[in-house]
Amino acid sequence: MTNDPVEHVRADPVQEVTAWLQEHWDPDLTVGEWWERLGKAGWSAPTLPTEWYGRGLSTADSARVHRAIRDFGALGPPGGLGLLLAAPTIVAHGTDEQKRRYIEDIVCGREGWCQLFSEPAAGSDLAGLQTRAVRDGAEWVINGQKVWTSNAQIADRGMLLARTNPDVPKHRGLTYFLLDMHQPGVDVRPLRELTGRSLFNEVFLTDVRVRDDDILGGLDAGWAVANTTLAFERTGTGAGADGTANSSAAPGTIAGHLTQRAGDFVRGRQERMSLTVRPELYIEAARRHAKVDDPLTRQHLVALYIENEVGRYLTLRLRALRASGSDIPGAPNIAKLRMSELFRLGREVGLGILGARGMLHDYRGHDRSNVNPDRAVLEIALWSPAPSIYGGSDQIQRNILAERVLGLPREPGDERSTPFRDLRKNV
Ligand SMILES: Cc1cc2nc3c(=O)[nH]c(=O)nc-3n(C[C@H](O)[C@H](O)[C@H](O)COP(=O)(O)OP(=O)(O)OC[C@H]3O[C@@H](n4cnc5c(N)ncnc54)[C@H](O)[C@@H]3O)c2cc1C
Repeated sequence: MTNDPVEHVRADPVQEVTAWLQEHWDPDLTVGEWWERLGKAGWSAPTLPTEWYGRGLSTADSARVHRAIRDFGALGPPGGLGLLLAAPTIVAHGTDEQKRRYIEDIVCGREGWCQLFSEPAAGSDLAGLQTRAVRDGAEWVINGQKVWTSNAQIADRGMLLARTNPDVPKHRGLTYFLLDMHQPGVDVRPLRELTGRSLFNEVFLTDVRVRDDDILGGLDAGWAVANTTLAFERTGTGAGADGTANSSAAPGTIAGHLTQRAGDFVRGRQERMSLTVRPELYIEAARRHAKVDDPLTRQHLVALYIENEVGRYLTLRLRALRASGSDIPGAPNIAKLRMSELFRLGREVGLGILGARGMLHDYRGHDRSNVNPDRAVLEIALWSPAPSIYGGSDQIQRNILAERVLGLPREPGDERSTPFRDLRKNV
């Protein structure tokens, strides 16, 4: 304990990271070398505690740090679900041994992660999932099928939710495993989307093995752990989120980016950031297509601006409240609903501006910027159904708000008391 007041004044993290970047950013490093520096210095995931490669910053300050890295012109932290979901979930529920085993590899981008939750008959009803885990000595044997698994094709590890006990009600017999994707029996099959890309996959698991000490948060206690992951997902992808997961370089051993030059990904990152519904994007398109004088287009542009600002203010308010130890019940759910609305509005406004040109799309490459200057507007229109589905659909967000925030009665049924094996199944 000291009486020196200076010790209690925390340096501004933006100034700190900028000074650090001046000393350490080098575009000629490989992506892997750069992420080692960034991760070990605590700038990849600044919200993590200092003892686990973070800086203990608030989400507001972390977003400012990530913006500062981008504005500096350096490559941002590893994108993807490792940093967004796995690391904070492991910090919240993991043993020290698990934190030692996984966190450093995530913040340094050495391993990519995917989220093996949804199944063909268990999306909204996630607790109804049927992938089975059966104990075999010090290991578990997993059999089942997952679907919509984003980036599974480049994942080294998976956050896997599986049923360990079918004799208790469905929420109480689930366990959260940390799965090694590099093993026989893990069959990843990409699915082609409306956008022309294959972001997500089907994943078939046949006699796949997980060690007992790769259970996160305890046997049959997976539902609480999964809810932690889902809360980080809603906060990280709702309106006003800072888009950390949008880095153009992908982490892990499979994507092949770690050995490439870091500076080559900086421009690419800005390209990917255009998948946010920014009003300027639509104003530029309206000018390009001589629609800025059109009264309807002008109304739509203002509506888009307002929706964007409301989402941004909600997030800023939530961050400020959380920094002072308070909260807004249901705020992540509301933020996610606003994001769905923003994307729908972006689609309507964008396609209204483009008119018949909105039907022209080039599906060949990843970077379509030279093919069609309206690329970003089209991408958002084609991507617009996704935010209202992933991380829990709009209807499920409203159910959560109704039941957990407003205290309205739960949906009828005896699912909470009936053993899973006696419930009627979707398939
Ligand atoms: C882009 C994208 C990426 C994704 N990435 C992943 C991933 O990485 N990992 C992963 O595990 N999953 C992922 N998902 C899956 C996602 O979580 C599920 O699609 C979502 O939970 C909905 O489940 P479902 O598709 O099975 O729809 P269903 O659950 O079958 O729902 C169909 C419709 O019924 C409605 N509905 C269902 N139940 C209720 C209810 N009780 N009350 C009111 N309405 C209801 C839903 O709102 C929806 O409109 C991703 C999805 C998308 C679109």
